[in-house]
Amino acid sequence: QDSLFRVQTTPFYASLAKTSSGDSVRKIILPSGKELDSGAQQMLDPLGENKKENRATERLIHRYTDRALFLVTDMCGVYCRYCTRKHFTASDQVMASKADLANAVEYVRKHPEIKEIIFSGGDPLTIGNGPLETFIKAFYEIEHVELIRIGSRFPVVNPFRIDSELLEIFKKYKPIYFMTHLNHPDEISQEVADALERLVDHGIPVFNQMVLLSGVNNHPALVYALSRRLLYLRVKPHYMFQADPSMGTDHLRTTIEDSLSIQKQLWGHASGLAMPQYIVDIPDGGGKAALTPEYLQSKQDGVHQFKGWDGLSAKY
Ligand SMILES: *Cc1c(COP(=O)(O)O)cnc(C)c1O
Ligand code: SF4
Repeated sequence: QDSLFRVQTTPFYASLAKTSSGDSVRKIILPSGKELDSGAQQMLDPLGENKKENRATERLIHRYTDRALFLVTDMCGVYCRYCTRKHFTASDQVMASKADLANAVEYVRKHPEIKEIIFSGGDPLTIGNGPLETFIKAFYEIEHVELIRIGSRFPVVNPFRIDSELLEIFKKYKPIYFMTHLNHPDEISQEVADALERLVDHGIPVFNQMVLLSGVNNHPALVYALSRRLLYLRVKPHYMFQADPSMGTDHLRTTIEDSLSIQKQLWGHASGLAMPQYIVDIPDGGGKAALTPEYLQSKQDGVHQFKGWDGLSAKY
């Protein structure tokens, strides 16, 4: 990386940062001198997305069988300091070209196993509704593509973007699933709650993918508060990601032991709906791995010895 990661926010997200409860938001968007430390595991491309075998076309990553990820644009509303895709985001500030789209569509047409297209980047809602609809329509028209997912932080970085014109587009190309990314209950102001509710009210299922961040949300009570608030808004807490070892993020990352401990402290106490699944993305493109607390104590002659969430032991 020849230059540092871009700093940018929206006026709305900056307004959240300015409040007395804006500490978590500030840590997400304000650069730190610690980003310059050459940490233990600096990787520009932790998920191996630039590897030839993982890039189907210039803008399409086909790493898992039945779904592929389309890099709509490298622009975001805000640049999160822990971004896993620093090799791409904020680099050229351009959306996919007509040729990029045509190549991706051609690849997907030839791969009937692809049932879902994930719009990612960058943030797909940084582009206007016109080009966004063009992209959605192009994939929607492929017979074997069953649904499109929009991965976006816009409900929290600019909730006013979720307006009736956008919602009408989403309704037109149903089923569209919306994957948002909130990390802390303090990010959910009234405007953010309203934007999430508008999506759900229009029949769009909304899921949240959070990233565990040291000093921001690495406490079971915070994860629980975020999950309860989201559930109340009909947003399913979906994944709780281990932060990837991307450049300049050592100071923001938790250890895997800490993350597992948070998962373990919540398990059993928090409703199944409120529990996000803890995921570690295996570096170099190994893919997502779900980690759960270990309940199986031993296994002998077909007898499984378990110890449950509150300490009760029994054999199966
Ligand atoms: C995470 C990811 C997906 C989606 O995986 P899900 O577990 O279905 O959310 C798809 N493609 C790539 C490249 C990914 O990193
Ligand atoms: S919105 Fe997503 S892609 Fe953009 S900087 Fe934040 S984490 Fe990275």
